[in-house]
Amino acid sequence: MLDTRPLLLTSDFPAVHRALPETLQVNLGYLCNLSCTHCHVNAGPKRTELMALTQIELVLDVLQRRQLKTLDLTGGAPEMNPHFRYLVEQARGLGVTVIDRCNLTILEEPGYEDLAEFLATQGVEIVASLPCYSERNVAEQRGKGIFETSIAALKKLNALGYGQGEGLYLNLVYNPNGTFLPPPQAALEREYKLHLQQDFGLQFDQLFTITNMPIKRYGAMLLAKGEYATYMQLLKDNYSAENVGTLMCRRLLSVDWQGYLYDCDFNQMLDLPINPGKNVLQNQQALIASDKPRPHLRDLMETDFSTQAIVVGDHCYACTAGQGSSCGGSLHEESTNE
Ligand code: SF4
Ligand code: SF4
Repeated sequence: MLDTRPLLLTSDFPAVHRALPETLQVNLGYLCNLSCTHCHVNAGPKRTELMALTQIELVLDVLQRRQLKTLDLTGGAPEMNPHFRYLVEQARGLGVTVIDRCNLTILEEPGYEDLAEFLATQGVEIVASLPCYSERNVAEQRGKGIFETSIAALKKLNALGYGQGEGLYLNLVYNPNGTFLPPPQAALEREYKLHLQQDFGLQFDQLFTITNMPIKRYGAMLLAKGEYATYMQLLKDNYSAENVGTLMCRRLLSVDWQGYLYDCDFNQMLDLPINPGKNVLQNQQALIASDKPRPHLRDLMETDFSTQAIVVGDHCYACTAGQGSSCGGSLHEESTNE
C-alpha cells in the first residue's frame, strides 16, 4: 500500500506543547467487522492485534493514579476486544466517563445482540460514525448494506434511551466523502437531525465533523489518485492559528494495544511515539530512529507527561484547517444542540 508517512515528517507546523492530560484514549486493537475506505487504522476482520488483560489492568491503574476524567475507547471495533466489558465496568466503577467509538454495525452482529443494553446500563457515551444521512454516500464509504444496519442500530439505541436528552449521550460523526473540508458543524448537525427524524424517526445529541487525515488507507487513496498534493494544499491554505490552543493532543494521551503512548491516535497510526524528552521539541526523525525505550502506560504511573512538546507533522494541518478537527468534532464552540 502507498504510504504518505515519509512525506509528512518534515513539516513547518508550529510547535505545540501539552497541557495537563484529562483523557486517556485507548486503542483496544485493530480488529473490526468493517474495512472502510477512509479508515486511518487499516482496521478489518483479519487484524489480530488486541490489547491484553495485563495492559487493561494498567489502564485502570493509570486512570486512578492520574485522576483522569475520561476513558475514550477506540479501535478497530473496540467492543470486539474480549476484555471490553470488564474495562468498561471497572472504569465506570471509578467514576470515569467512558466513551465508546462505535461503528454502529457491531451492535447488529451475531454475538453482540446484548451490547447496546450493556452500554446503556453502564451509562457509556456513544460516538458513532455515520458519514452521511443518505444511503448512497454511506455505501460508497463504508460498503453496501452498512447504512441500513446503522439505522437499525440507532433505532435500538434510541429505544434504550440514547439521544433522548436523558443522560445517555449518542453523538454522530461525519467525515467528508472526498477531498474537501467538512461543512460548518452546527449547520450540518441541523440537517442531520432533520433528515434522520423525518426519514427514520431517529434522535441523537451532537454531530462531530472530522476532517479526513492524509494517512494510512485514506493517504494511500490520495497518492493512488494523484490527489495528495492538492489535498495537503487545501489543508494548509485553510490553516487557522486560533485552533492551535484547543488541539485535542493538548489534553489527551493516546495508548496503543501494547500500552505504548502517543500524542493522538493519528500519531499512533504513523508510529510517531510521544516525545520522551523534557520540554524541547527534538528532531522527530532522530527520536523515532533512536533505540530509547518507548514511553509506556507504566511510565504514566510516575509522570503525567504534561508540558511536553507534541510530535507534529504535516498531517497536523488536518486538525487546524477551517473550523478545526478533533475526535470531539470541530474546535470552534459554535456547535450546540439547537
Ligand atoms: S473506520 Fe472504523 S468501522 Fe471502518 S474499518 Fe476503520 S475502525 Fe472499522
Ligand atoms: S494530528 Fe492533530 S491531534 Fe495529532 S498531534 Fe497533530 S495536531 Fe495534535
